[in-house]
Parts: sequence; structure tokens; C-alpha cells
Amino acid sequence: MAKKVNVCLTFDFDAISVWIGNFHATSPSAISRGEFAVVGARRLLDMLREWKIPSTWFVPGHTADTYPEAVAQIAAAGHEIGHHGYRHERLGSPEEEIRDFDTAIASLTRVTGQTPAGYRSPAAGLTPRTLELLVNHGMLYDSSMMGDDFTPYYCRVGDQAPKDSAFIFGRETAIVELPFTWGLDDFVAFEHVWTRNGINPGIAAPSRIYEVWAGDFDYLYDRLGAGNYILTMHPQCIGRGHRLLMLERLMDHIRSRDGVAFKTMRDAALEFKQARPPAHAARV
Ligand SMILES: [Zn+2]
Repeated sequence: MAKKVNVCLTFDFDAISVWIGNFHATSPSAISRGEFAVVGARRLLDMLREWKIPSTWFVPGHTADTYPEAVAQIAAAGHEIGHHGYRHERLGSPEEEIRDFDTAIASLTRVTGQTPAGYRSPAAGLTPRTLELLVNHGMLYDSSMMGDDFTPYYCRVGDQAPKDSAFIFGRETAIVELPFTWGLDDFVAFEHVWTRNGINPGIAAPSRIYEVWAGDFDYLYDRLGAGNYILTMHPQCIGRGHRLLMLERLMDHIRSRDGVAFKTMRDAALEFKQARPPAHAARV
């Protein structure tokens, strides 16, 4: 049977927001790690232009306001801009989360002229409230969960998780989940981070990560033959020389296969929704 594999390259343009957010780090050294994202983004845009590949950039509102020109350039080059929160951290109250969500949409729309169709939670920290926000805003898709790998599915709202009886599954919504996984993410593999809670050694050899990333692609392509291969990368992380060379090698491998199409997340979500319309469209 003919192969049909969508490949979605996604870039989380966290820049400074992740250091002052999740890591609560404000030293000039920490901030400079975020600044490097702009250097990495420039290199990636050049590579994408050369390959003629569309991609999706999940941009925190904080990054759009801090680097409006860099973010506008990404949109102007034809890449999709997705919602990635405003502050890159776990938020407290429902009111705080709603405010953050709305502020991010306003910043992204102002800077890029596009209203985001999809969402990825900062540091995969989705809450039940976030899913309700996505429903209320009529978002097309989310990419923060791991309930499948290469096959999209519909997100639920209203799950309950009692510990002394079976899990209670909520209602399916019309929001497409385009699955995320830490195994196909560059940050944990490459970023050396230490906090009061522990150390992530990072700085993996690119050859080791190539084995993981190419292995997942080969399983999808050779064994399943159809599905969506979604890579999550961060310009400040993948943008270092040895890692870009690994990405080039991986792209050579993927692009040599028949039946592979590079798509934005939006187009992959629309394709899934058309092929398998939602059975229910739960309202919150
Ligand atoms: Zn992020």
C-alpha cells in the first residue's frame, strides 16, 4: 500500500520566557540562553526556506512582545504561528489562566496578523481549565498530550480521576489532539539545566538523539505506513551547530522517502478532522 506520512516540524519559540517562567531564573547568564533563540530562529528560517518546508511555531505572547520583528518575520515567511501561553509557567487561579490565554492571543494577533488556530501548553502543563478555554475559543487543535503517538484523536473535557474507583472519561470535544512526546522533543535531551529540584544533564550526543528520532520515523513509515510524525524543537536548543547538522541528516533521511508530505499542524489537524469528523462536539 502507498505510504502517507505527514511530517510536522514544530518550533517552540520560548526565548527568555521559559527562563524567567518555569525556571524562575533572572541572572544575565540565564537570560542570555533565551536570547540565543533569536540566533537559532534565523538559522532555522534559512534552512526551512532552502528546503521549501512549511512549519509551525508555538510562540509565547511574552516572546511576541519581546521580539516582535523576529516573530513577524516567521509569520511573513509563511509559517504557522500557534498559541503557547503568555507567561511560560504553570498558572494559579482560573482567572489568571484566562487572562494569560487572552493576552497571548492579543499579542500574537497584533504582531503577526494571524489569530492562532492551535495551542501547545508551555512545558506540557495542560490543565482541565485549559481544555475548556480551547473549546470556548473554538480552537482547532491542541498539541500537549501523549494519548497516542502518530494518530490524532479528539480531546475530552470533564474527566474525573478518583483513586478508589475506575477513571471516569469525560466528553469528547471537536478539538483535535496532535500528539506531543518528550522523546521527540529536543529540550530534555540537549539542555543542561539545574534547579533546586534537580539536574537535567542534557548535552546528549546528537547521534543518540538521531537514533531516537529516526527510529520513531522509521517505525511509522515502515510498519504503520500512515500517520503524523511531529517533532518539537526549540530554536535556542536545536539552533546549536552540531544539532543543526543532525537535523539536516534527519531531513535528508525523511525527504528521501516517497509518500512524505511536510505540513503545518493546522493543515494536519484539518486533514484529520475532514477524514474523521468528531462524533460529539461537547460544549463547556
Ligand atoms: Zn515552550
